[in-house]
Amino acid sequence: MKGEEMKILVVNAGSSSLKYQLIDMENEKVLAKGGCERIGIDGSVLKAKGNGSEKIYEKDMPNHKVAIELVLHALTDDAIGVIKSMDEIGAVGHRVVASGEYFKKTTLVTPEVLKTLEEKTFELAPLHNPAAATGVRACMEVMPKTPMALVFDSSFHATMPEKAYLYGINYDDYKAYGVRKYGAHGTSHKFVSAEAAKYLGKKPEQLKIVTCHLGNGSSITAVDGGKCVDTSMGFTPLAGVLMGTRSGDIDASAVEFLARKKGLTHSETVNYLNKKCGVAGISGVSSDFRDLIAGQEQGNERCTLALDMFAYQTKRFVGAYAAVMGGLDCIVFTAGIGENTPTVREDVCTGLEFLGVKFNREANYVNGGKSDGTIQEISAKDSKVKVLIIPTNEELVIARETAELL
Ligand code: ADP
Repeated sequence: MKGEEMKILVVNAGSSSLKYQLIDMENEKVLAKGGCERIGIDGSVLKAKGNGSEKIYEKDMPNHKVAIELVLHALTDDAIGVIKSMDEIGAVGHRVVASGEYFKKTTLVTPEVLKTLEEKTFELAPLHNPAAATGVRACMEVMPKTPMALVFDSSFHATMPEKAYLYGINYDDYKAYGVRKYGAHGTSHKFVSAEAAKYLGKKPEQLKIVTCHLGNGSSITAVDGGKCVDTSMGFTPLAGVLMGTRSGDIDASAVEFLARKKGLTHSETVNYLNKKCGVAGISGVSSDFRDLIAGQEQGNERCTLALDMFAYQTKRFVGAYAAVMGGLDCIVFTAGIGENTPTVREDVCTGLEFLGVKFNREANYVNGGKSDGTIQEISAKDSKVKVLIIPTNEELVIARETAELL
């Protein structure tokens, strides 16, 4: 089977969830998709789509192995099934959040690779990587003959130069512990920057792009000549702009000060910065931008402040990255907020005329400011810097990378 003839199962396993898509690489169409929720908890459920309809399986899923068995059952189901047997699945691509310095690119799963994933990377992403490894093991048990690939969120950022990814700590400590910037959302930044080049009719090598992946987690990346040269997330996804519930960048001394004042341990403090801060903490209302916009419309000043901070910090990265690249050809907005919140896009782009950005306010508000699922240009025709809304598709990147590897 050649890569482009294959059907690839993309698996994104969380600690109690498992999302999947089956993609036909011949035409890159999604044949089926769905997700298991509450794995290992009471009331587990699989919501599966295929053949134009949806089916809900309420079945006890004590672990990920049972979940993946149920997914395969749904894929071959009489009503919503899209394949006759699991032998039609050419390969499985697994999403993995953190690679550390152990994996620089998409990697075929072998016992050695799995060992490295489990022994070396769990501490880098304690919430995400163990879940991914559980997903890989579950799939290997159920589909022992099917090749599996690990596709890392951080791979696209592996091209960052040392001066961009290092923190100003003792170099020996960086070497000993791997403490540096790794970045995240790499598959999304890779996808939208390549789509932008295609849309603009240019080669990636000809373009300097800032991609803004703005969702529950947000990151901004400088893509120079098709390669990542810097990104806003860091050692973990806590860094960069403030997010739904994450603080974003903060002075390390303030963290220690806060911990002392609040009587928190190290890990409680990090948990606080991950879960109780960001726009939720600033607004006191919600982590969801739809709620913040509604609050702002009702005159809630802290919702407005949270929105202002988010746009301000995003803009700060756009400016910094234009400086880093020595120019700017295109700004891309993607993910939940980037695709659907026009006021954020407007606030980020306003005042960037000096960089050559001529924003098209009218185009920005077409369709109520929500993405129509295609690439939309929201800069003026004569804008030197093109501003685009590009719907992201991380699953497709995972499937492509898996197909390429094989
Ligand atoms: P993640 O995948 O990181 O969980 P998303 O990319 O789905 O997050 O982004 C979630 C954010 O996007 C939320 O703040 C939400 O308010 C916003 N969002 C998602 N869809 C819409 C929409 N249709 N209209 C407005 N905002 C939206």
